[in-house]
Amino acid sequence: MSAAPSVLFDNHGRPLEYVRLAVTDRCNLRCFYCMPEEGIQYLPKRELLTYEEMERVVALLAGLGVRKVRLTGGEPFVRRDLVPFIGRLSQIPGIQDISLTTNGVLTAPHIPELVHLGVRTVNLSLDTLDRARFAAITRRDELPRVLDTFYALLAAGIRVKINAVVMDGQNTQDLVPLAELTRELPVDVRFIEEMPFNGGSHGAIQIPWSHVRIREHLEQHLGALMPIAQPYGATASEYSIAGHLGTVGIIAAYSRTFCGTCNRLRLTAEGGLKTCLYDQGVLDVRALLRGGSTDAEVTAALTHAFRNRAANGFEAERQRPVHQLSFESMSTIGG
Ligand code: SAM
Ligand code: SF4
Repeated sequence: MSAAPSVLFDNHGRPLEYVRLAVTDRCNLRCFYCMPEEGIQYLPKRELLTYEEMERVVALLAGLGVRKVRLTGGEPFVRRDLVPFIGRLSQIPGIQDISLTTNGVLTAPHIPELVHLGVRTVNLSLDTLDRARFAAITRRDELPRVLDTFYALLAAGIRVKINAVVMDGQNTQDLVPLAELTRELPVDVRFIEEMPFNGGSHGAIQIPWSHVRIREHLEQHLGALMPIAQPYGATASEYSIAGHLGTVGIIAAYSRTFCGTCNRLRLTAEGGLKTCLYDQGVLDVRALLRGGSTDAEVTAALTHAFRNRAANGFEAERQRPVHQLSFESMSTIGG
């Protein structure tokens, strides 16, 4: 057991605890809100961070106090040898929690290995339970495989959080059926405000479905949503509903109500460091790693970046040299 590292605080008093790794920018779905139908211009393989490079960065971040890692993408399971990589991450001293965000299409066969490696939570993206609407939103007819993954995760005892992006005119009729899953199942169904990172799929978004309206809508149909206290750094406001086994959450990703306790960093598939989802990348970690920087130098650069964060997502957005967020795709950022 190694000694606990001292905690790194940013310039706004927020601790660094968590890193999200986009392990690839590639995906087997084409969700309307994430990328255009023809896909995005994928990075050449050599421009993606290697597993060894990611491992090195996570080890250095663990030395700065990071305890939690989430693997995302693109679709993490389209990258070869993901599971052995999770195994290596789990050996890094200080890393206590490894989780995944997946679309669930390729996930089911890996569940026993995930259990073996101690993965306790999986976030499963699922915007509708209707097969035709699923195909329209993701541009692929894969709902049956996603549902297989959902039930296999539950059967394996992995905690499941469903992520559903709320899109006006696309899936608002699905909010109540998705939330109804929590009546009989011990799942957390989280509704996410749509964000503008769609890789040019469509331009400026409007969010008629703000977190306030989502809550009102759910309450109209399901009764009172009772707030549940959340740990520091949580992005979702979580609620219980009388008589339901599971919980529902609402993530104000566009309204950005949670920035005051943001405890995370993001590493994009090409090794760009983001200290806020809405910034344009504040450090080229890949250049440091491939340019021969020592561990001490990389650690110093990561520390400097974290100590110079925007106060919130609005400030980060204002500081971007290019303001058009919809040129970026969430599949390179990792959500
Ligand atoms: N492919 C995996 C998946 O879909 O779960 C992981 C990557 S995906 C980019 C991570 C999360 O970001 C998903 O839950 C997805 O719904 C969410 N996301 C993608 N684009 C979004 C957008 N424009 N607004 C809000 N959430 C978005
Ligand atoms: Fe792929 Fe996830 Fe983006 Fe959908 S949200 S296109 S599954 S990366």
